[in-house]
Amino acid sequence: MSTAEAASAPALCARLEAALPGRVAAGVSLARLGRWRIGGPVDLVVTPDSPAAVARAVAILADSGVRWTVIGEGSNVLFDSAGHRGVILRIGPDLGGYRADPSTGEVAAEAGIWVPCFVRRTLSLGLAGCVHAIGIPGMLGGLVAMNGGSQRRGIGEQIVEVTAVDPAGRLQRFDRDACGFAYRTSVFQQNGAVIVAARFRYAPGDAGALRREAVAIMAARRRKFPNRLPNCGSVFVSDPALYATLGPPGAAIEAVGLKGTRAGGARISPLHANFIVNEGGAGSDDVLRLIALARRRVFDATGIAMRSEVLHLPPDGPLRPAHDAVPELVGQAGREGAA
Ligand SMILES: Cc1cc2nc3c(=O)[nH]c(=O)nc-3n(C[C@H](O)[C@H](O)[C@H](O)COP(=O)(O)OP(=O)(O)OC[C@H]3O[C@@H](n4cnc5c(N)ncnc54)[C@H](O)[C@@H]3O)c2cc1C
Repeated sequence: MSTAEAASAPALCARLEAALPGRVAAGVSLARLGRWRIGGPVDLVVTPDSPAAVARAVAILADSGVRWTVIGEGSNVLFDSAGHRGVILRIGPDLGGYRADPSTGEVAAEAGIWVPCFVRRTLSLGLAGCVHAIGIPGMLGGLVAMNGGSQRRGIGEQIVEVTAVDPAGRLQRFDRDACGFAYRTSVFQQNGAVIVAARFRYAPGDAGALRREAVAIMAARRRKFPNRLPNCGSVFVSDPALYATLGPPGAAIEAVGLKGTRAGGARISPLHANFIVNEGGAGSDDVLRLIALARRRVFDATGIAMRSEVLHLPPDGPLRPAHDAVPELVGQAGREGAA
């Protein structure tokens, strides 16, 4: 049985439904699961509500041999307009527990808590160290997997331990060293484990001052980043060599004249050139063309190939960096030109 057949097979659906009653849905539109609001139908979506439920789901998926992908809020994922043959394991707010002890600075949270909510609750207890993440949409598990952050910080810095379900369905603990945190990546991008919870240790701070800092960060983000149109945040990761020549990716894309360039319904944001917005009706190929175009033009100008932070989920394969998806599409965007 091929992976595609297995994903939609009634037997698999029935097994998952028996193990996770009411938490399996077929034929869901991926456009509903990702921040770009782009994507065709996926065979199955499973939404567990406890670490044990994640372990049960993963064990069944591993046993079936079906292709499956874990996501949080889809705020860093470009789903394909052709959809996806496989299973999406979605770690969302039903797995959103939070516990903190302000006297020790220990915070324990489940992977489906919304990041701004995690940060606000932590700041309100007078614990410092995560304020940089206040404006980042997404679930905690996704943020940890990406080692996301802002202001040159990463969420991994204060992690004590991550609990994850390994690809065979067993709960495992990873201390900080085992998490392999580096700039916008971690071992969880490679090892196929599903993060279900994380423990942090934060230093004491002044709740009022932290709140003011959070407000300032949010105001700066509102000013700098496009908020009104669907997008997935920064498309390309910063690169020291590029930084030394044209600056951060947004400045580099602007310097090569692409700010505001459209492809179909997608556009390199006229506000911040490292963002691609869906102006309405964009397809995944529109976004991929713009990614390929920006990468090619910056490469022609500097000899540096930018790497995308955003991941693409193809119809018949695993998540991959979006720039790996369409080198051949270079040249098809830009004809529509900058507005
Ligand atoms: C407007 C906007 C602004 C943004 N600003 C920032 C920013 O300032 N800094 C920043 O770092 N990012 C930023 N992002 C990107 C994004 O919000 C983060 O990467 C976010 O943490 C991803 O979380 P998610 O739940 O949406 O993960 P998803 O996008 O769903 O997944 C991202 C990756 O994490 C993996 N993953 C998700 N959940 C789990 C899990 N439980 N276990 C294991 N792997 C998992 C997925 O397989 C995938 O590889 C921004 C995005 C938007 C839309």
